[in-house]
Amino acid sequence: MATKEDFYKLLGVERNASDAEIKKSYRSKAMKFHPDRNADNPAEAEAKFKQIKEAYEVLSDPKKRAAYDQFGHAGVDPSMGGGRASEGFGDIFGDVFGDIFGGSGGRQRSSGVQRGSDLRHIMEITLEEAVAGTEQKIHIPVLVGCGECGGSGAKKGSSPIICSTCHGHGQVRMQQGFFSVQQACPTCRGTGKQIKDPCGKCYGQGRVQETKTLSVKIPAGVDTGDRIRLAGEGEAGERGGPAGDLYVEIQVKAHSIFNRDGANLYCEVPISFVTACLGDSIEVPTLDGKVLLKIPAETQTGKQFRLRGKGVKQVRGGPVGDLLCKVQIETPVNLTKDQKTLVEKLGESLTSGGKHHSPQESSWLDGVKNFFDKII
Ligand SMILES: [Zn+2]
Ligand SMILES: [Zn+2]
Repeated sequence: MATKEDFYKLLGVERNASDAEIKKSYRSKAMKFHPDRNADNPAEAEAKFKQIKEAYEVLSDPKKRAAYDQFGHAGVDPSMGGGRASEGFGDIFGDVFGDIFGGSGGRQRSSGVQRGSDLRHIMEITLEEAVAGTEQKIHIPVLVGCGECGGSGAKKGSSPIICSTCHGHGQVRMQQGFFSVQQACPTCRGTGKQIKDPCGKCYGQGRVQETKTLSVKIPAGVDTGDRIRLAGEGEAGERGGPAGDLYVEIQVKAHSIFNRDGANLYCEVPISFVTACLGDSIEVPTLDGKVLLKIPAETQTGKQFRLRGKGVKQVRGGPVGDLLCKVQIETPVNLTKDQKTLVEKLGESLTSGGKHHSPQESSWLDGVKNFFDKII
C-alpha cells in the first residue's frame, strides 16, 4: 500500500483548523473531485474523492482527530474509511447488479448538496433473453449535470459566491425560546453558496433535461419484478450533488410455448391417440433446442413428464430448474368412413374381450353409482 497523504494536507487546512473550516474545505474539495465533473478522468477523481472523504471522516470526529494528531495514520482504525466512501459515487457497472445480489446503498446525504432522485425504468424482454441474459440499450429522459456550468449553476467563467447569510457554513442558528436550533440556511438552502450570475443553459439549477442512452447488461436467469440498480444513473443532484440511481425493472413477456414458475418451465404437448396407446419417442421443444421425450405405452392424458435441468438457471444461484411437459391426447378429427369403421371395430373389441381397458372410467362409474345411491 502506498504511503498515505497527510489528512490536513489533503483537505488543505492548517493543523489548528476549526471544525467549520474543515467542513467547508471538505465540501469544496468533494465538489471539485465529483466524478460527474471529471468526465475526462473519473477514476482518478473518484480515488481522490475517497481520500478526501477518509480524511474528513477522521478530522471531523474529535476522538479520531485527537488520535490522528498524536499517532498519525496508525492512530486511526484502519478498517474505517475505505468501503463506505464509494457510496453514491460507485462506477456504473461496478454496482449494476447491486439490487439483484442484495447490495444497496448510495443513500447518504451529505449536508448542503442535494442528492438527485432515483429513477425507475421498465424493460420488457422475452423469456429467451431472460434465461440467457442480454444486453440492451435504453433511452431515458433524465436530469443531468449541466455541461455549460459543470453543475455549479453559475454562469461560465463565474463561480458561486459564499452565501452572505451563513458565510458558507450552510447552517444557521435560530433562537427558539430558550433553545438555539441549527438548521439549513434559508438563503442558500444549505449549500453555503449563492449564485449571483446564473448559467444561461440551466438557469442556475445546475441540471438540464436530456435523453440518456445506456447499455444495460441483464444477467441470465432474471424474472419479472427483478430490479437492476445502475448507481449514479438517476437524476443529477442539485448544484453538483451526487446523482440518484436508476432502477431497471424487468418484465418478461408471455411466451407462446412455455410458462415459467421460478426455475421451472411448463409446456403442454399434444400427442396422438396412437402414440398414447402404443408409446413412442416424440420431439419436444426446450429453450436450447429439441429433445426426444419417451412416451410409454398406455399413457393417460394430463400425464406430466419431467426433463431435468431443462428449466432456468436462476440469477440468485441454486439448482437449474426442470421442464415439465404435460401431454394432451388428441381425439382424431376428419375421419373417413373406413377410419370410422376401424374405430367402431376397435371399440367393439375393447368392450367384448372381458379385459379391463379403461382404468379411470371404471372408478369414475363407481363414483357415479355411489353418488346416486346416496341420493336415493
Ligand atoms: Zn448550467
Ligand atoms: Zn447560506
